[in-house]
Amino acid sequence: MDRIAEDSPTSPPPHLQTRKLIAGIAVLFALACLIALGALFNIALSLNTSEREKSSFYAHKALEQRLEASRQFLSSYAVWDAAYDHLNGAPDLTWAYEEKNVGDSLYTASGFEGVFVVDDQHTKYALLKGQLRHAPASTYIEEPLAPIIAQARSVATERQQTTQYVLFNGWPAVVVAAAIRPDDEQLSIDPRTTSVMMFVDQLTPEKLDNLGAGAGLSGMHIEKAGALADDQSSLALGETGYRLVWATPRPGDQLLWAVLPPLLGAMLVLGLLMIYFFRYALRTAREIDSSLQSLQSSNLALEASEQRFRAVAEAASDWIWETDSFQRLSYLSQRFVTVTGYKSEDWLGQPIDQLLSCETTPLTLWLDSQAEPDPQQMANLRCAYRDQNGQLCFCRVSARSIMLDGKLAGFRGTASDITDEVAAHARIQHLSMHDALTGLANRNKLSRFLEQALLKGQKAPPLTLLLLDLDSFKPINDSLGHAAGDAVLLEVAVRLRDSTRDGDLVARLGGDEFVLVMNGMDSRNEIDRFCARMIDNLHQPIHYEEQALHIGASLGVAQTRLQGFDADELIRCADIALYQAKADGKNTWRYFSPEMNEQIQYRRQLENDLRKALKNNEFVLHFQPRYRLETLEIVSVEALVRWQHPIEGLLGPDTFIPLAEQTDLIVPLGRWVLREACETARNWPNHLLVSVNLSPAQFSRSDVVNDVYTILVETGFPAQRLELEITENVMLNDIEGALGTMTALKELGVRLNMDDFGTGYSSLGYLRTYPFDSIKIDKRFIAGLSTESNDRAVVQAIINLGKAMGLTVTAEGVETEQQLEALGKEKCHEVQGYYLSKPVDKLAFEQLLLNHNSSRSGAS
Ligand code: C2E
Ligand code: CA
Ligand code: CA
Repeated sequence: MDRIAEDSPTSPPPHLQTRKLIAGIAVLFALACLIALGALFNIALSLNTSEREKSSFYAHKALEQRLEASRQFLSSYAVWDAAYDHLNGAPDLTWAYEEKNVGDSLYTASGFEGVFVVDDQHTKYALLKGQLRHAPASTYIEEPLAPIIAQARSVATERQQTTQYVLFNGWPAVVVAAAIRPDDEQLSIDPRTTSVMMFVDQLTPEKLDNLGAGAGLSGMHIEKAGALADDQSSLALGETGYRLVWATPRPGDQLLWAVLPPLLGAMLVLGLLMIYFFRYALRTAREIDSSLQSLQSSNLALEASEQRFRAVAEAASDWIWETDSFQRLSYLSQRFVTVTGYKSEDWLGQPIDQLLSCETTPLTLWLDSQAEPDPQQMANLRCAYRDQNGQLCFCRVSARSIMLDGKLAGFRGTASDITDEVAAHARIQHLSMHDALTGLANRNKLSRFLEQALLKGQKAPPLTLLLLDLDSFKPINDSLGHAAGDAVLLEVAVRLRDSTRDGDLVARLGGDEFVLVMNGMDSRNEIDRFCARMIDNLHQPIHYEEQALHIGASLGVAQTRLQGFDADELIRCADIALYQAKADGKNTWRYFSPEMNEQIQYRRQLENDLRKALKNNEFVLHFQPRYRLETLEIVSVEALVRWQHPIEGLLGPDTFIPLAEQTDLIVPLGRWVLREACETARNWPNHLLVSVNLSPAQFSRSDVVNDVYTILVETGFPAQRLELEITENVMLNDIEGALGTMTALKELGVRLNMDDFGTGYSSLGYLRTYPFDSIKIDKRFIAGLSTESNDRAVVQAIINLGKAMGLTVTAEGVETEQQLEALGKEKCHEVQGYYLSKPVDKLAFEQLLLNHNSSRSGAS
C-alpha cells in the first residue's frame, strides 16, 4: 500500500503523459502548417511585387519610347528651314495646310489630334484632328501655354523639345513642343522670338491598346487618380489628375490558387487524421489508466484482505483449516501449530478425519452434509484430537464448502479449542453430582438415581433406603479440627463403598449424613444383617495421625415395598426412622413405622400456619447486600424472606419454602415478597439493584410475567433495578416454556440471575440459550475455596466461562477473608456473604447503607 502511495506523486498516470505528448505534437503540427502557409504567401507576395515592378518598368519604357518618337517626329518639322520661313512670321496656310507640309496627314497618318503653332500672343496655326481651326490652342489645351512655350524656346539651341502631359479636350494627352528654327549648325536667330510648334498626342484607348501590346501589358487605360484599386499598377500623367493604368499579372495569386487548396485539403485531412489518432490514443491511454488503477486498487484490496485474513487467522484463538475435495488437509493456519504443537507439514495432505474425530458422527459424513448446509442446523461439530504430546483435546469445528465454478472444491473452516471448556464442564458436571470431599454421590445424584429407579413404580424391583448418621463425629471435628473430620469422612466413605455392590448407591447428604440405596435386598433378615455389619464396620477405629478415632453410626430404614415409590417420601421416612434410632441410644437401626409420623402432623400444622401467616402478614424481608469486589461498594441487595412465627419465633425460608412449594402457597407468598421488595427498595438509592428469588414452582403454577408486570406498574419501581434469581431447576421441567417466560421477563426490562450455579444439570448449555445477565456461583464451591484446590479450579473455570459469555459473576457465601482474596485473584465481579454482611432486617440494612456511604465518602 505504502509503496504505491509513494510512487504516485512522481509519475503521473499514463493518460496525462499521453495528453501532454499529443498537445506537443498538435502544436508542432500547427506550427509547421503556419510556416508552410507563411512561406507560400511570402513567395506569392514577392512574385506579385516583382511582377508589378517589372510591368511598371515596361510601361514606363513604352511611354518613354512613344514620347521620344513624338519628339523626334516633331523635331523633323520644327527644325526645318522651310517651316521657319513659312510659319515663324505670318503663317503661310497654303504652304502649311493646302500643300500639306504641315497638313492633315499629321493626324491621319501619325495620329496627332492637335497641331499648333503659337507665339506669345496668339495661335498662328491650329489643326484639330487634321482639320484647320481658327480657335486659339488654349481652347483645347487646359494648361497655361506660356510655360510650355518658354520651355520649348529655352532648349531650342540644343535642338531639344519639351514634353508635358495635359488635358486636351478634357482627355489626357501628351504635348510635345519645340521652337521653330532653321536647321543651321550655328543658330543665327534668337530662339526667344520664334514661334513654337506643338503636337498633341491624345492617349486614346486605341493608342493605349497598341502601347500596351507593344510592352506586353494588357488592359492599359486611363483612370482618374484616386479611384485606384491597390493591386493596380499605374503611372501618373503629369499634373493632369489622370494616370495610366494597366492590368498587372499576379503570378503569386495564381500560385496560391494552384497550391493553396490542395495544401489546405492535405492539412485538413492530416489534421483530422491526427485528431482521430489522438482521440484514439487518449482513449486507449485512459483505458489503460483505469484498468491499471482498478488493477492497483484490486491489488491493494487483495493485499489488505490478505493482511486482514492473516491478522485474524493469527490473532484468533481458533485455527483455520482447508481441505481439497477429497477432504485432505490443504491449509492450516499458524495458530494450528501453536495450539496443537504439530508442524503444518505433518498434516498437510492427510485426510482431516485422521486428525479430528467425532464421537457422535463420522467427520467425513458431516463434512459432506456441509456441502449443502441446512440453515436450520448448527454448522458446528465437537471433535476430539490428540495433540503432539498425546494429550486429548477438544475443539469446536465449523465448516463451509468451497465452490469453484459450481463444483465442490473442498472445505474450509475454523477449529476453536474448547478443551478447557469441556474439562470445566465435565468437572462442574461431576461436582454437581458428587460430594467434593469424598467423591460419593451428592443429594442431586441421589434424587436423580431414585427418580430413575422408582420410575416404574410397582413394577420396579424393591429398593431399600438407609439413612446413616455418624455418632460422635461432631466432638472429633470440634476437638481435632476439620482435617481430622475430613479424614474420618473419607474413611467412612471408603468403608461404605466397600460394603455395597455395583448397582447400589452411596451418597453423602452433607455433614456426617450418608444415604445407601440397596438393590434386591428386601427381607428384614437380610437388612438386619447388613445393618449390623455396617455398624460393626464403622465401629472399627479410624487411624489418623497415629491416633485411633472411634465413631459409631445410626441408621434409619425405609423400603419401597412399604413406604411407596416417592423419593422424597422415602428419604423423609428414613429420616424419621433415623431420628428414632438416635433417640433409642445410637449405634443401632430402626425401620420406619407410621407411628413415628408425628412429623407428618407437624407438616400439616405448618401448612395451616403458613396460610394464616399470609393472611396475618407475618412474613418479613431481610436484606443481604452484594458488593462489587474491586471496590467493595454495595451494588445490589438480595431480599430473603423470613417468617415471624407467633410461637416458634423467626423462621428461615428452608423451614417453610419447600412446603409452600409443595402446596400452591408459594404463588401468593412469591407475589408478596416481590411487592414488598419493590416497595421497600423504591426509597433506596437509584443505583441499588434489588434481587428477588423466584421458585421454580412459581413458573409452573402462575403467570410470573404478568405478576412481575403488575407489581412493577403498581409500585412504580423501575424494572431495570429489579433482578430475578432463578435456579436451573426452573428449566428442568419445561425447557421451552421456561425460555419463553424468561424472554418475556427480559422484555419487561428486568435482569435475570442464575442462582446456585454449578449445582444443576448441564449448566453451560442453559447459559448459552437463556437470556441471563449474571450468574451466582453456589456457596458450596466458595466454601471449598479455602480447603479444596479442586473447587478452586472449578470456581476459576466458572468465572472465566461467565466472563467469556459476557455475564456478571457473583460469588455467594463468602465467609472468610481468604475466600474473598482468592475470588479477588480470580477477578470475580461481585461477592456476597456473611464475611461482608449477613442478611439483616430493613432498618438494619438502611443503617448499614448509611454507614457504608458515609465511610465511603469519608474515605474518598
Ligand atoms: P439462596 O437464594 O441461595 O440464598 C442465599 C442463602 O445463603 C441465604 O439463606 C443466606 O442467608 C445464605 N447465606 C448468605 N451468606 C452466607 C454465607 O456466607 N454462608 C452461608 N453458609 N450462608 C450464607 P436463607 O436466607 O436461609 O435462604 C435460603 C434459601 O431460601 C435461598 O437460597 C433461597 O433459595 C430460598 N429463599 C429465600 N427467600 C426466598 C424467597 O423470597 N422466595 C423464594 N422462592 N425462595 C427464597
Ligand atoms: Ca438467591
Ligand atoms: Ca444461592
